[in-house]
Amino acid sequence: MRIILATGNKGKIEEFKKLLPNEEVITFKEIIGDYEVVEDKDTFQGNALKKAQEIYEKIGDEEAIVISDDSGITVPDINNEPGIYSARYAGVNANDKENNAKLISKLNEKNLEKTPAYYTACIAIIYKGYPYTVHGWMHGEVINKELGSGGFGYDPMFIPTGFDKTLGELGYEAKKDFSHRTKALNLAKKVLDVIL
Ligand code: IMP
Repeated sequence: MRIILATGNKGKIEEFKKLLPNEEVITFKEIIGDYEVVEDKDTFQGNALKKAQEIYEKIGDEEAIVISDDSGITVPDINNEPGIYSARYAGVNANDKENNAKLISKLNEKNLEKTPAYYTACIAIIYKGYPYTVHGWMHGEVINKELGSGGFGYDPMFIPTGFDKTLGELGYEAKKDFSHRTKALNLAKKVLDVIL
């Protein structure tokens, strides 16, 4: 099965390829080149659907299976930030380091060394023009510093429930068993089993 990912995020592409080892996973850029979807919806689901739908229409192949992921981290003690703004928390073109620095400064403003947080992933599938969405969550805590260099994004600041190390220290091998993306993708696979 050929799956077209509607994302340009290198960390996500790597994870999807590892999570779908038996499928041909390509990115939309390999078919239509550079194209930017404006993420202007107010939920992970709204943005995931918009990305998948727009790329599906751009590709113009009715049989294409397009999958997108909109994800982020939510910290209830700082007004549920950054949430859907996770990728652009420190600005539109911010990188992971800058976003993490902003989260650290927000935690420090409230004297929070460690506080509950959770990742959300919404995966949208468009097939034959029909939309399907599933969600996955990973709960834990964020700390006001970065530890380890594994994973991507906020992983060096996130300690999953049941562990005493960050995902930056634990690395992908631990994360792949219980991450928000893994959980959502397992549900997405069930959807694909039914619709294909
Ligand atoms: P999106 O591409 O708009 O869905 O942005 C997702 C952003 O959320 C990423 O750029 C990361 O900052 C963050 N994020 C989502 N999933 C993860 C993860 O598994 N680890 C670390 N950060 C993540």
